[in-house]
Amino acid sequence: MSYYNNRREEPLPNEDIDTWECVSEDCNGWMRKDFSAAETPACPFCGKEMKSGTRYTHFLKNNNIHKE
Ligand SMILES: [Zn+2]
Repeated sequence: MSYYNNRREEPLPNEDIDTWECVSEDCNGWMRKDFSAAETPACPFCGKEMKSGTRYTHFLKNNNIHKE
């Protein structure tokens, strides 16, 4: 199947998204709230708590956990 080779070339639009942001200053882990069932998730990278936040970024289809 050549399904996945038929990608659109236009850039992904940015949007405001609700996020969980890691509270650790040494860790920049974050994830989309849309994909998190937990009300107060722990950071997948360092295990600390996460606080509610927002990011203006492009929509990410597959990956819901990020480290920058
Ligand atoms: Zn973290």
